[in-house]
Amino acid sequence: MSTSEEHTAKPISEAVRQELIAIVGSVAVLTDPGDCWPYGYDNSRRQALPQAVVFATTHEQVRDIVALCNRQRIPLIARGKGTGTTGATVPDRGGIILALERMDRILEIDPANRIARVEPGVTNQALQQALQPHGFFWPPDPTSAAICTIGGNLAYNSAGPRAVKYNTPRENTLGLRAVTGAGEEIRTGVITTKGVVGYDLTRLLIGSEGTLAIITEAVLKLTPLPEAKTTFQATYRDMHAAARAVSAIMAQPITPCALEFMDGASIDMVRSYSDLDLPDSVGALLMIEVDGPEHGLAESLQAVIEAARVEGVIDIEVAHSQQEIERLWRTRKALSPTLRNIAPKKINEDVVVPVSRIPDLISGLEQLSRSYDIQIVNFGHAGNGNIHVNLLTDPDDPEKMARAHECLGQTFDLVLQLGGTLSGEHGVGLEKRDFIDREIDSATLRLMHAIRHQFDPLDILNPGKTLPEMDA
Ligand SMILES: Cc1cc2nc3c(=O)[nH]c(=O)nc-3n(C[C@H](O)[C@H](O)[C@H](O)COP(=O)(O)OP(=O)(O)OC[C@H]3O[C@@H](n4cnc5c(N)ncnc54)[C@H](O)[C@@H]3O)c2cc1C
Repeated sequence: MSTSEEHTAKPISEAVRQELIAIVGSVAVLTDPGDCWPYGYDNSRRQALPQAVVFATTHEQVRDIVALCNRQRIPLIARGKGTGTTGATVPDRGGIILALERMDRILEIDPANRIARVEPGVTNQALQQALQPHGFFWPPDPTSAAICTIGGNLAYNSAGPRAVKYNTPRENTLGLRAVTGAGEEIRTGVITTKGVVGYDLTRLLIGSEGTLAIITEAVLKLTPLPEAKTTFQATYRDMHAAARAVSAIMAQPITPCALEFMDGASIDMVRSYSDLDLPDSVGALLMIEVDGPEHGLAESLQAVIEAARVEGVIDIEVAHSQQEIERLWRTRKALSPTLRNIAPKKINEDVVVPVSRIPDLISGLEQLSRSYDIQIVNFGHAGNGNIHVNLLTDPDDPEKMARAHECLGQTFDLVLQLGGTLSGEHGVGLEKRDFIDREIDSATLRLMHAIRHQFDPLDILNPGKTLPEMDA
């Protein structure tokens, strides 16, 4: 676990502590370092000590806390459950953690208008469970659903396997209530499914990683639960055959609701740790799900299976029971824990390339793996071209770490050459901040800084995250 060396957290002054207590009450303010440490890390494994942690439960409290931080020029870092992977909630410059996990009410579920109005601290899973009896769901489905908040999902534009068919938070959110860094309440968007008045600030705030405004309420667009779903697994000789299948599936009219893949290295890794019933000849696999109305699902499934049957296919197995579904998903689900055991300090990126360029990405990664002598394991959301590239390295071997970092820079260059982007869902935070000027030109970055300044003139909201520093 790396800790920030740039900053030694000084306690906040007694006067500020008393003002925080006046806003939220004494049980909702932590200042003892022992209590604050658990709120200073995320899944990037970075950690820094916040000067205080304050739990808000209402919009008005958020507004007053932002105003206080403005007056005192104290950094304020919004935090859902801290499951982000890029260090965006880590207070590397000190400041106050604004914990939103207790602001967790579902304010309204309105089936007729297909919307839900929620506070930011509701977990993704709690929302899905509340929607289920109404016959609806909210499509974004990060694997961390049980332990991550809607606020975090929005601020990172997080998604999961379903995004291939149902898209990400940006396409599934109608409006927001928020407090800007200047302490002003804003309402963005609409509560209707059509609306074109004014600039689209909803999409701007989604993915802004807590750097423009604190989201205090969201109007989410709901989708009816599909009547039925079928799962199948397709195995291939190698990654190139699997990549051809992905292109063929995406080129035909039926969109699967999951199109996940694992390359040979990931399969071998799981195989070495558990008893997989896959033949040794399998060099890549796809997990595919097709959903829709009961009638017609068999035809849709057949169309996707036909597309998956490219040269190099070894086997296609359709699940006929819940038990078989679980068995087919077992390999994919075992991968993350296995990787974490084998390479605790793996470098895990979530790059995206156009679907038709996946074979070029994989060939390029194979070459990089050979030239840098770094094992690279790839899996991910193939239907979106969103590939989780894992560089396996060893934190106790500085020479290998240096090679891995050089290899990472080359990986990003390759992705950009192929018309891709550096992150599909994990965001930028601290981890990728210093790479993004490879993707975004300086004129566009300057405009982004100017927008940030309009929302947050004193630079108190999550300072130093998401955008690289620029000369004035
Ligand atoms: C086991 C595991 C599996 C994961 N799987 C996926 C996956 O499949 N797909 C995926 O995309 N991600 C995944 N993630 C990453 C992570 O879970 C998501 O990014 C999630 O959306 C973060 O939610 P959170 O509540 O933990 O947010 P946090 O980590 O607390 O915060 C994330 C960002 O949001 C900001 N923020 C939080 N709340 C607000 C608010 N109300 N207003 C403004 N800004 C706010 C924070 O400042 C920070 O910048 C996974 C993580 C883990 C640990």
